[in-house]
Amino acid sequence: MTSTSLPDTMDALYDTTRSQEIMARSRTRFPGGVNSPVRAFGGVGGEPFVVARGKGARIWDVDDNEYIDYVLSWGPLVLGHAPDVVLEALRDVMQYGTSFGIPTGLELELAEKIAVRMPHLEMMRFVSSGTEAAMSVARLARAVTGRDHLLKFEGCYHGHADSFLVKAGSGVATLGLPNSPGVPDALAQLTLTCAYNDLEAVERIARSVPLAAILLEPIVGNGGYIEPVPGFIEGLRRIADETGALLVFDEVMTGFRIAYGGARERFGVTPDLTALGKVIGGGLPVAAYGGSRAIMERIAPTGPVYQAGTLSGNPLAMAGGLATLGALTREVHDGITARTAQLVAGLREMASRHGVPFRASHSGSMWGFFFKDELVTNFDEAKTSDTALFKRFFHAARARGVYLAPSAFEAAFMSAAHGEAEIASTLERLDAAMGVATSNTLSG
Ligand SMILES: *Cc1c(COP(=O)(O)O)cnc(C)c1O
Repeated sequence: MTSTSLPDTMDALYDTTRSQEIMARSRTRFPGGVNSPVRAFGGVGGEPFVVARGKGARIWDVDDNEYIDYVLSWGPLVLGHAPDVVLEALRDVMQYGTSFGIPTGLELELAEKIAVRMPHLEMMRFVSSGTEAAMSVARLARAVTGRDHLLKFEGCYHGHADSFLVKAGSGVATLGLPNSPGVPDALAQLTLTCAYNDLEAVERIARSVPLAAILLEPIVGNGGYIEPVPGFIEGLRRIADETGALLVFDEVMTGFRIAYGGARERFGVTPDLTALGKVIGGGLPVAAYGGSRAIMERIAPTGPVYQAGTLSGNPLAMAGGLATLGALTREVHDGITARTAQLVAGLREMASRHGVPFRASHSGSMWGFFFKDELVTNFDEAKTSDTALFKRFFHAARARGVYLAPSAFEAAFMSAAHGEAEIASTLERLDAAMGVATSNTLSG
């Protein structure tokens, strides 16, 4: 391998003619040719493929190339693509109608299924995206506390609502600077940030500014896979209690992935409010937020905090979530977890054989890796991983039929459809990919 031209490396193995045609036309119709930015492959370069279909652990692009998929629609597909139980549930429900804007029994059923696993969600409200859930949680926390400031962590993503598009300072709290034009400074300044796992900074901020909420991803997935250090989440609970802030777990990604009962089960800490999404819709647009009855009854119509949605609790979306959570028993969850551990162990062994700096870990069916020798505990450290190597590895993997997230700063996922055969095949293909990616380092 002497060429360092990534798209060439890729095209040598996979014909992508149709994908390229569709993307060229899409770029005239959508900004960047996509309807969500990360899909444009900006983080890795090269041309995105256009997907045609998926089943189980696999997807096929419009040129009929096959990939074992570890993105899984960015997390929701914990049973894999197009699972029969979900397709049947959708067919069943669809014959009675697709939307009413009137209560249906399905909403109650899904809420009860969620509450069995997350009993601290005494009451909840369904919405249609994680962005909506996080945005609503912020409004509610501000209303409950009568305070305006929020504290979030660098590298944590809470959707694209104005209050969360705030850039971080370097390890120290800074007044927020908007990450995106269009976010008013006046609003961004109400969102403070500090490094993940920096309890001292949290303590300092929470004691100098009255915070409405401290929000976090209980395991970070949106800055790469980063776990809290022991004591961090417990410390946040203590600081929130001592300073009158609400503690919010954004479990849009971690919910029903890192543990059967989510972060509360995994860490033994109960948040005041929780945002959910992704898995609870099983691939349909569903998210939710919830907490104690006392807090949730502040939401309209029982309380004054307004939040509404035409398609909230949509019956097809509820059916997708119900079928998914119904199939995701503790036994199934434990099975996916065991296979995730197996994959991660295989990757570590492979990297050490190739002499590549590498850190991989997982919790439940959520996993991730950095090309780096030291443990990554925050986003600044994540940014010092070898992202050039990641890009080469991503393209070499993709050319060999393994689809990883097209960014060094995203978590990966497993599904119930990823069995022993898929893991063995993945490790074999990634072994070859790692060989190519590292030999490019030497020649390039
Ligand atoms: C995906 C995600 C969101 C946003 O959810 P959307 O459905 O994309 O709006 C919010 N928070 C976290 C932690 C996420 O992973």
